[in-house]
Amino acid sequence: MQIELREAAAKLKSAQKIIVTAHINPDGDAIGSSLALVQILKLMHKDVRIFIDDVLPPNFMILPFVDNIERPNDNDRLTADLLIILDTQTDRIGRVFNMVEAPILNIDHHVTNTGANVDYLYLDPNAAATCEIIFNISKYLDVELTMNIARCLYTGLATDTGFFNYANTKSSTMRAAAALIDAGVKPNEIAEQMERKSLADFKGLVETLKTMQLFYDGKVVGIFVNEEIAKSVDSTEGFIDLIRVIDGVDVAFLLTCKSENLCRVSMRSKTVDVSKIARSLGGGGHIRAAGCSIKTSFEEAKQIIVDAIGEAIN
Ligand code: AMP
Ligand code: MN
Ligand code: MN
Repeated sequence: MQIELREAAAKLKSAQKIIVTAHINPDGDAIGSSLALVQILKLMHKDVRIFIDDVLPPNFMILPFVDNIERPNDNDRLTADLLIILDTQTDRIGRVFNMVEAPILNIDHHVTNTGANVDYLYLDPNAAATCEIIFNISKYLDVELTMNIARCLYTGLATDTGFFNYANTKSSTMRAAAALIDAGVKPNEIAEQMERKSLADFKGLVETLKTMQLFYDGKVVGIFVNEEIAKSVDSTEGFIDLIRVIDGVDVAFLLTCKSENLCRVSMRSKTVDVSKIARSLGGGGHIRAAGCSIKTSFEEAKQIIVDAIGEAIN
């Protein structure tokens, strides 16, 4: 059932024991929105735990409260008054879905979210980030936006908008960011932290760029994190942003080898709706930024994604 923001706030107020989670392959918005919400709930004297079923990229390890993020154990079974799923629908939260028995409140901004398997969905596809929604919901909750909460929210706003460059950046996004700066955020500090790369990841980026291939008269560009490169890097965050700028390119994609028969695709576009392509392959996302997993060999996955993008652009 889709609900209004005010009703979502009421759900937070009435629950006491709350579990918060966000998507696997966590990004700045998943982690930032979870950490901000958990701090807000703590200020409301809630009993709250936070689970993300994945490794956290190192750049986010400086965020306030990050040490409180737990990974589920296979045998754990937890009950709660509310399970809050942030920045995704139920299919990308890993083992948390089966571990927790509780009514589900899903808060998200992905236009592809169908609300499957949740009790309450607050969906705002106009929000640039889930962090923008958490910022908005905080107005209904009687809590002060501390500097630590603001830093988490700003991180998600900034990373999901390419530091306020992408088409999802609205005046409301900027107003939220301004309020977070008023609460003590230093934009340069967050930017520097998010831009950091280990030497190994940087070398991996150089190797990945060498794999660049153009398709369909240069309208599509792909780069490939094959098994060897994948083994040498911790994170491929930001790789795709470097190729989406090429003149004449509409769709840029990154294919990553996760394991023998599991590949991940990230897509970015200037005009084409890549969320449709991602959805047709079992994934999702936004019009200009989307992704999916393909359960097959690297070579076969490459053919599948090149064909799917070809169909969409022709
Ligand atoms: P990424 O390329 O990983 O930065 O993802 C781009 C956007 O698509 C983000 O908003 C993701 O949350 C979304 N997305 C990526 N992979 C998937 C997936 N497998 N299912 C649904 N949404 C996805
Ligand atoms: Mn996300
Ligand atoms: Mn997001």
